Amino acid sequence: MIEIDGSHGEGGGQVLRTSLALSIVTGKPFRLFNIRAGRPNAGLQNQHLACVNAAQQISGADVEGAKIGSRELLFEPAGVFAGNYYFKMDTAGSAGLVLQTVLPALLHADAASSVRVTGGTHNAWAPPAEFLQRAFLPLLGRMGAEATLTLEQHGFYPAGGGLYQADIKPWENRTRLKLLDRRELRWEAHALLSRVPLHVGEREVNIVQSRLHVRENRCWVREVQSPGPGNALTIVADCGDFCEVFSAFGKRGKPAEKVAKEACNEAERWLEAGVPVGEHLADQLLLPMALGAGGRFRTLEPSGHTRTNIETIRKFLDVRITCEQSGDAWTISVES
Ligand code: ATP
Repeated sequence: MIEIDGSHGEGGGQVLRTSLALSIVTGKPFRLFNIRAGRPNAGLQNQHLACVNAAQQISGADVEGAKIGSRELLFEPAGVFAGNYYFKMDTAGSAGLVLQTVLPALLHADAASSVRVTGGTHNAWAPPAEFLQRAFLPLLGRMGAEATLTLEQHGFYPAGGGLYQADIKPWENRTRLKLLDRRELRWEAHALLSRVPLHVGEREVNIVQSRLHVRENRCWVREVQSPGPGNALTIVADCGDFCEVFSAFGKRGKPAEKVAKEACNEAERWLEAGVPVGEHLADQLLLPMALGAGGRFRTLEPSGHTRTNIETIRKFLDVRITCEQSGDAWTISVES
């Protein structure tokens, strides 16, 4: 039984999701204690419980401690089973984080799976649809893993009600990921609005356009149908052979200018560092690289999530992961 102290590193939900995925792939049971001890609302919350329940369904696991507020979880998977799954989140918890848990595992099943997940598709502190579709999944494809994601319905915090459909094939040919430079760069700026005045999205996109010199024909504002109000701003950096995606989210009382500033600041930090991989992509690439054929990428200073993922991966897999600094950039290598 692998013992994991959830208070280490980031002290949040990341260690849980990474442990669930790795436990299913390796067949190794784990006990996670001090769950989310670093957060004010410690223990399993709806979002995390949804990930545990989804992981349980795809693996037939024996689970103890799967309830709201739980600070300890025992998880013993029986296997990884392909299937047609429907994971329903009643709150606006992130559907993307449920996928982050089950997708790496289902790549290891012996047949294709189809997964429908309801919840938030555009939440703060979680990967939104555009990030998954334009940045993460294409890079997974470069590692040889085939998965597609369709956004069937937008879901924003707090109403939720979004819907993803993911199709995941068994991972047959693993290839190393090498992402050390970026060459060309074309920016895009998109604002999504549900039940929010159009001028909010227009102000956001105008700011991005002038700060990053985005061409007019690559900017748009779109109204979407969703059960509740919401606003998401997406900046895509299309680098030719891969994309990075930076996002910020509106909420009641938060000016459009603040939303635009958050997304632009993140994009400019990445731009100035001259690296291909941004903060969020860095922590999310580690798991598939460790399960695949490894590789190397250049990125910003590793975040708490990245360091936590590295520690968690080391507990389950015999891989060598190193982080080397050179000026503002870091090179992370994964040797499996
Ligand atoms: P909690 O803080 O409640 O414990 P959690 O651990 O479930 O929450 P986080 O720790 O914040 O959630 O982890 C969120 C995950 O979502 C990380 O993989 C992070 O990289 C990713 N993420 C957060 N914001 C973005 C974003 N704007 N774009 C892409 N990915 C994101």
